[in-house]
Amino acid sequence: MPTLAEHIASRRTFAIISHPDAGKTTLTEKLLLYSGSIQTAGSVKGKASSKHAVSDWMDIEKERGISVTSSVLQFEHDGCCVNILDTPGHQDFSEDTYRTLMAADAAVMVIDAAKGVEAQTKKLFKVCTLRHIPIFTFVNKMDRESRDPFELMEEIETVLGIGTYPMNWPIGNGRTFRGVFDRQTRNVIAFDGEGRGNSTKKVAEIEAELGDAALDELIGSDNHQNLMDDIELLDGAADEFDLDAVRAGKLSPVFFGSALTNFGVEPFLKEFLRLAPAPLPYTDTISGDLVDPQRKEFAGFVFKIQANMDKNHRDRIAFVRICSGKFERGMEAFHVQGGKKLKLATGTSLMADDRATVDEAYAGDIVGLFDPGIFSIGDTVCKGEHVQFPPIPTFSPEHFARITQVNTLKRKQFVKGMHELAQEGAVQIFREPGFGMESVICGVVGVLQLDVLETRLKNEYGVEVRRQGMPYTDIRWIANDLNELDTSRLNITRDTKLVEDMRGGRLLLFTNSWNVNWAIDHNPDLKLSEVGNVN
Ligand code: GDP
Repeated sequence: MPTLAEHIASRRTFAIISHPDAGKTTLTEKLLLYSGSIQTAGSVKGKASSKHAVSDWMDIEKERGISVTSSVLQFEHDGCCVNILDTPGHQDFSEDTYRTLMAADAAVMVIDAAKGVEAQTKKLFKVCTLRHIPIFTFVNKMDRESRDPFELMEEIETVLGIGTYPMNWPIGNGRTFRGVFDRQTRNVIAFDGEGRGNSTKKVAEIEAELGDAALDELIGSDNHQNLMDDIELLDGAADEFDLDAVRAGKLSPVFFGSALTNFGVEPFLKEFLRLAPAPLPYTDTISGDLVDPQRKEFAGFVFKIQANMDKNHRDRIAFVRICSGKFERGMEAFHVQGGKKLKLATGTSLMADDRATVDEAYAGDIVGLFDPGIFSIGDTVCKGEHVQFPPIPTFSPEHFARITQVNTLKRKQFVKGMHELAQEGAVQIFREPGFGMESVICGVVGVLQLDVLETRLKNEYGVEVRRQGMPYTDIRWIANDLNELDTSRLNITRDTKLVEDMRGGRLLLFTNSWNVNWAIDHNPDLKLSEVGNVN
């Protein structure tokens, strides 16, 4: 039996990011091929057997072909226990991606070899860098006509601003794609001739040394010559592989492959598991120290809340990243923000199939806790000496809309739906003085979040709403105490709106930054802050 320390040291927890269609789902599925056992959290169907099986729990995802929610998959390989956190590909959900990354110790960025760095790769990459974790690159679809690998590397470096280190090098591309050259072992790993089309077989790889005459036959003499030239060039380049730079998120190890044909996936996984960190420590804001993942007592924080994942069980799941120790189902732990001891029940509807109930889990793992409505994003649960992990900052909303219920008889459902979805962090909601709760102002980071809100209010709460866009672009919380500043006396432009968040915090919505400055200039006592404690 592994010890607690061994369990924890064997964990590798990472998130996959990509522009939609680059191959994130396919790569995830192929990674699962190498798994000993599969456990899923956040997955209704529980298996990654077909595309979308993992994350499609909402119609809107199917309609638009995007993944809105994040789910978690776990498998074992090569003595490691691997947790993959899926993230939404669309930039409108980058806040969700950000929260998921808060729970990850590394990120894998999938890039389409024909397209290179795409718009959403850039946005998601930026979110990744906020977390300062190692970022690995998988250049996918080499079995298709691709761009020059040198050019792709340069694009990653210049557009994303991260160093690159090719771990392997592609041999040909598209129809001439024959395999990769592993720079560490100096071996060619080639297709065995059958590696075409969608393959779920583990690839039989043939290894041969560079310069070996037999290689001419295996990969073609042109490919062989090109490869020798490329490798000479690469080896001549000054950059040494620097693990510290990788761990600091400054250098990205790059792997070439083809997820669909399952080529290069296993070597990638092997190297990834070797280079990616075991669970990283998180800061305890009480002592200011780092919490050692090997600490015996359990501690973790909520990074995501999701309601109604299964229509038959109207429950809410709080996803907890375990930061230290061991979790046991039904254990008692202290909920720091609530100031209470709780019994931690794992959500059952979350785990739709047989193997799925989580009885125990270790630092690095994610557990889905049943949430009777007590958790907020960023909350800490712990045993032993109290610790508290840092809050997860919210993104400032950039789009606003007034959401009004159509059928006033459904007031209760509307209020409940809005509150629950706001608690999930799906939207931020604000109240306007003089308006009742039948109409609220919603702020979102991406417009698609409003579409999701409408769909979910209808499907999960049976409420139809009317949506009216609002022209606000800037949001500031009023940092003054209630009795320190009388807002009725504020000197603000006519198109600036005073609203309240759900905790009674006062804030101003502006239609442009000029109006923000106007408010600052004309109200010497007014203190404005860009962040608030929302919802
Ligand atoms: P995601 O949106 O990033 O999750 O991308 P998917 O994994 O759904 O892949 C998008 C499309 O690209 C699908 O039609 C896949 O079959 C295809 N695809 C994924 N990987 C490869 C690959 O290595 N080669 C080729 N030719 N197609 C691929």
